[in-house]
Amino acid sequence: MITHEKAIENLDKVITQVEFSRLQVSDHCIVQLVAVSKYSTVEEIKILYKAGQRAFGENKVQDLKDKSIALDDTPLSWHFIGSLQKNKINNLIDLNPTLMHSLDSLDLAQELDKKLKAKGKTMNCLLQVNSANEDSKSGVNPNDAVAIYKEISEKYSNIHLKGVMSIGAHSEDKTIIKQSFETTKSIFDKCEGATICSMGMSSDYSLAILCGSNMIRVGSALFK
Ligand SMILES: *Cc1c(COP(=O)(O)O)cnc(C)c1O
Repeated sequence: MITHEKAIENLDKVITQVEFSRLQVSDHCIVQLVAVSKYSTVEEIKILYKAGQRAFGENKVQDLKDKSIALDDTPLSWHFIGSLQKNKINNLIDLNPTLMHSLDSLDLAQELDKKLKAKGKTMNCLLQVNSANEDSKSGVNPNDAVAIYKEISEKYSNIHLKGVMSIGAHSEDKTIIKQSFETTKSIFDKCEGATICSMGMSSDYSLAILCGSNMIRVGSALFK
């Protein structure tokens, strides 16, 4: 388990690196840090909370439920970042996540909107784009992303689309990862009303920020 000292050290390192990268973009560029706690325990989340972190991300609805209930008296904001199975939609709605990053098809949007309406609720979401064009990754095809974003915004009024999310290309080659981030950023720029561009993980968040990310999802660099 991570110690309090190690958590502070990790958080300092990430924040320093984020500062360095975002200042290369602009003084006005603000980057939000979501700590991905999917491989971490409730105790470890508490340690990072004490070190100052407030936003956490989980990729399974059940884990989000268990951890947010266990940490009910701690003022955290919870992000959902994983593939959402249709039979888990109602469970996720009941957990009131701050932001759902992984709306990855029109089909899911239709189903989610229907269930939100039935409960009289809304949800902040990001459209996940498969900018790396990898079969292993979820997300809409980058060529269709702007049109799908518009369609969801217009048709599904209980979904509040706030922007886009991508996972960088799975590659050792920085130019390939960069290309995938640039693809997402150009889609983000074309989506009307979009304010959040969620991209960058432990291994590539600096590059993501340089490409225009304003929300990074970092797990292992914080918790290990
Ligand atoms: C696990 C995960 C992350 C964090 O990955 P790390 O490499 O541990 O920083 C970010 N985004 C998504 C969608 C994830 O599933």
